[in-house]
Amino acid sequence: MSEQRIFVVLLGVPGAGKGTQAKLLEQSTGLPQISTGDIFRYNLKNQTELGKLAKSYMDRGDLVPDNVTIRMVEDRLQQPDCERGAIMDGFPRNLMQATAFDKMTAPYGGVHVTPLIQVEDDETIRRITGRRSCRTCGAVYHVLYNPSKRVGVCNVDGGELYQRDDDQEATVRNRLFVYYKQTAPLIGYYYAKGILREVDGTQSIEGVQQALRAVVAI
Ligand code: ADP
Ligand code: ADP
Repeated sequence: MSEQRIFVVLLGVPGAGKGTQAKLLEQSTGLPQISTGDIFRYNLKNQTELGKLAKSYMDRGDLVPDNVTIRMVEDRLQQPDCERGAIMDGFPRNLMQATAFDKMTAPYGGVHVTPLIQVEDDETIRRITGRRSCRTCGAVYHVLYNPSKRVGVCNVDGGELYQRDDDQEATVRNRLFVYYKQTAPLIGYYYAKGILREVDGTQSIEGVQQALRAVVAI
């Protein structure tokens, strides 16, 4: 058996606050955030083959095919910054990916904990439609709930803030549908393993972070 690593899988509907919380947990735990959405968007921006392949799925709000996504995560986990584990944000997103992730992490003790960030659909839609993301570093803001210091400018690196194409309301509805159909079954999957922990996502960003740190407990 290889050394233990800590893998945290953040679950929750699109807009629940996974990316926001993953970035804060990265700071407090030192484990890197792995956001498959951010990796796809980086590839889209740089017009790589992977980006071209992912584009049509992302535009519709559908999942990018599993074989592509799973290989991408396998590669990412080989990077040296994952030597203590990682905070997974947006992966796994269906049962096929979850079983593949179990195999990838088995040599390191498997998945440590899966916090489920809970928020109702109405709030999720308000959060997503007001979301603004940094083009360069992926930091996430909200026009009302979490505004940047200067309008349209990222606090972290001064990058331009923009609204993601898939954050328009019609695509958001399909993403919620895809979540309930494909991702929600993971709640039962991880519950049965005894590692699901529910967290109230309707609190302030700092309140959610405290609750998360308590359940991650490393
Ligand atoms: P959100 O932050 O709203 O949950 P993400 O940034 O995680 O959205 O994902 C944006 C899009 O990227 C998804 O709608 C999907 O097309 C693609 N994507 C991200 N992660 C995965 C994944 N694990 N499997 C398949 N597609 C994914
Ligand atoms: P996800 O990664 O789950 O799609 P994000 O972290 O991108 O979610 O958050 C979605 C939107 O909601 C962003 O605009 C973010 O600033 C905002 N947000 C996140 N957490 C909270 C919170 N606890 N209260 C209010 N707004 C929040």
